[in-house]
Amino acid sequence: MLSAVHSLIDSVGQRLDIPQAVIDQLKAFNKEHAFDITLDNGKSFKAYRMQHNNKRGPYKGGIRYHPDVNLDEVQALATLMSLKTAAVNIPMGGGKGGIAVNPRELNEAELEELSRKYVRHLQPHIGSEKDVPAPDVNTDSKIIDWMVDEFGKLSGAADVASFTGKNIANGGSAGRTAATGRGGVIALAELLRLMGKSDENFTFAVQGFGNVGSYFGTVAEVTNPNWQLVGASDSQAGIQREAGLNATELQEFKADRGRFKDYMSDDTQIISNEDLLGMDVDILVLAGLEDSLTAQNMKNVRAKYIVEMANGPITSEAYDYLTAAGKVILPDVVANAGGVIVSYLEWLQNKNDEHWSEDKVNKQLTDLMEKAVQDMYEAAQQDKTDLKQAAFAMAIKRLTA
Ligand code: GLU
Repeated sequence: MLSAVHSLIDSVGQRLDIPQAVIDQLKAFNKEHAFDITLDNGKSFKAYRMQHNNKRGPYKGGIRYHPDVNLDEVQALATLMSLKTAAVNIPMGGGKGGIAVNPRELNEAELEELSRKYVRHLQPHIGSEKDVPAPDVNTDSKIIDWMVDEFGKLSGAADVASFTGKNIANGGSAGRTAATGRGGVIALAELLRLMGKSDENFTFAVQGFGNVGSYFGTVAEVTNPNWQLVGASDSQAGIQREAGLNATELQEFKADRGRFKDYMSDDTQIISNEDLLGMDVDILVLAGLEDSLTAQNMKNVRAKYIVEMANGPITSEAYDYLTAAGKVILPDVVANAGGVIVSYLEWLQNKNDEHWSEDKVNKQLTDLMEKAVQDMYEAAQQDKTDLKQAAFAMAIKRLTA
């Protein structure tokens, strides 16, 4: 995964006439932490924190718990975070963490011990002006709250701005949980507006109806009722209903640990994950994991618009094929930046000892996101490139200025 991110940085850097030495510097990591965490019961897990770039502000990025977490993946994701914070122009850098663990195989006490030990190892390297971690795949405000607590105990002073994605009661921001999904809706709506398509009716399918995908659905239901959800999937199966699905109801079904393979409702068909990716919809929202669209399945995609709500859900080969086939791909570094944008707003609130209303948070999220989409779209028109190239160019210019 890292090599794909690097080749895109290389090619955009060359197009911008940036000296290769400067580009090589941009690709390098400032600090890499790779270590083992052993629980009291003897179970041991590989853990990582990659601190990629802090030129524009403290390292920023989530911590993911997933059995497939590995060095190459966290390096790639940390690099994407530096590009993301620069693309949407917030004063933060890029980092990423992860633990190679299936959290569903741990009980709550083990999960807490794991999370606290992660912070114990990294404590000197974390802080509101150094590195500000946040949730990512399979991590949430409860895990972040344990981490903040552990960090406070170790450093002898509470520094709530050292982590984002906290519970509201512990200094979290209104709107943070829904922010990534909401940001994606704002970004897509702005892109469609720039393309003169605001008034059209669209159908869409969401691959990966977890935190990000489900909020994309529920927010769109309210703000863009002309987009109709007709398909959704989780890691095991998908469902489709031509007459439309109710995102709020599906979000509740998933919150109750429902699995789409067991979903029953009138006119709803259970389909495979691959079927979902090939559905006859206008918009395909990729909110699962990386490498979901590959050389194997890229030819099945029928949607005209593809939204990268996960980080790196399309391999470079599939990206090139789909772009050549006339698909419009809203790239991850902008599409899913709503999470880190509201993380930045949470950090700001903490530092100024303020609590903003959800309306105020959403308004600032909207302003920052719309501006990023406008800049990206304009750069793509001007340089005659696709949107990902334009977003990378925008970010790389800021990071090497
Ligand atoms: N994990 C999210 C991302 O990949 C959010 C990171 C953050 O809020 O720092 O962008």
